[in-house]
Amino acid sequence: MRARTGIDEIEVLLVVDDPRNSRRVRRALVEVRAGVFRITRVNRLQRALELLAAGGSFGVVLLDLPSADTQRLDAVARIRATAADVPIVVLAGTDDDMLALAAFQRGAQDWLAKDDLDGRLLERTLRRAAQRKRVEVALRREIREVEAARSRIEQQAVELRARAEQVDAVNRDLDDFTYMASHDLKEPLRGISGYCEILLEDYRDRLDPDGVRRLEALTGMCDRLAKQIENLLAYYRVGRTHDVDTDVDLEEVAAEQLDTLGATIDQRRASVEIAGRLPAAKGDPTLFGMVLANLISNSLKYNESKPPRVQLGAVAGEPCTIYVRDNGIGIDPKYHDAIFTIFRRLHGRKQYEGTGAGLTIVRKIVQSYGGRIWLESEPGQGSTFYFTLPPATKRVPSGPNAPHWIARDAVGVARP
Ligand code: ADP
Repeated sequence: MRARTGIDEIEVLLVVDDPRNSRRVRRALVEVRAGVFRITRVNRLQRALELLAAGGSFGVVLLDLPSADTQRLDAVARIRATAADVPIVVLAGTDDDMLALAAFQRGAQDWLAKDDLDGRLLERTLRRAAQRKRVEVALRREIREVEAARSRIEQQAVELRARAEQVDAVNRDLDDFTYMASHDLKEPLRGISGYCEILLEDYRDRLDPDGVRRLEALTGMCDRLAKQIENLLAYYRVGRTHDVDTDVDLEEVAAEQLDTLGATIDQRRASVEIAGRLPAAKGDPTLFGMVLANLISNSLKYNESKPPRVQLGAVAGEPCTIYVRDNGIGIDPKYHDAIFTIFRRLHGRKQYEGTGAGLTIVRKIVQSYGGRIWLESEPGQGSTFYFTLPPATKRVPSGPNAPHWIARDAVGVARP
């Protein structure tokens, strides 16, 4: 509501015992801005409490305390308890700091000595009290909202944790199932494979060539199945424990893996380059070796370029992001997710040998260290696989920053 002056009108609930005081207050208010304050006067505290409890639109309570004893001060507390959001200004007989303090402790916003009462002071005090209360109410509302939001977030965190635990439990069950199934399959498979061998050795002359061919095919199938079972078991083991958690120099790990792959590299007349010093990561050197070995051997395998080229490096500006790039056959983006699914292959075995478990195991290793793996690739454009690992606690000693060849390249450049 607005008065003629254009200033917000304040509705004052005047609680006053003594009619002379009431007149004095009215006069003081009228003195300055007639019409800016609307006054409702009550003689008894009980009536004031009823009006406040009924939810009147009072902007401020002006409480007359002729003699400020403790009992009367309790009126402040009772008004505060009835209407928490309406400011209280106490009009006291004397200017007594201790009593003022006692009134503040009971919830009063301000304190005025009757002797000082003049229109300007009263108006200023009422306005200030109303203003302060508005700010306080707004603040309290905001605090309530923030607290409500916080408890919603806490609730969601609890739910998320519970869901994560459920997912973990399901994953553990699945892993256990994988382990049991693989383990249980191994035994009969070994039996079938053994019988095939006996048949081929002891009964070969009693079988016609077609029978021998079929039996050999059966042995091949048994070998493949055994490999897949081994892969399943390897997949099961990854991430179950992180017993080894040390600083791992990826440069050394890469060099070891390239040594192991030396024969394949030579045979394919491929070149493998490390572009700058690889960083150190924190974790298990054997598992990180598996990651690099899988990615490098895929780069060599799925590659028809002459010569096949593979480059390993660290992404500049990132703490520990490694890439493995090749000039191979590339992968259609529509399969970029599928290739990480266990036993999912994009080619027949005749074209490229494999079981389809390598990348799934690689991803599980990377993820078990909180890392991420992704790729950029187009058919015929080569592939770049990226993965992140937790960086080592200590920095690795500085090494060659220029590209260095670890394996012999197609034209015979020697290892360093
Ligand atoms: P595997 O090599 O035993 O088939 P992987 O899980 O390592 O299993 O790879 C899954 C599939 O992803 C492969 O069958 C192949 O089609 C594709 N792939 C993986 N790496 C590359 C690569 N560097 N270039 C092209 N295709 C690749």
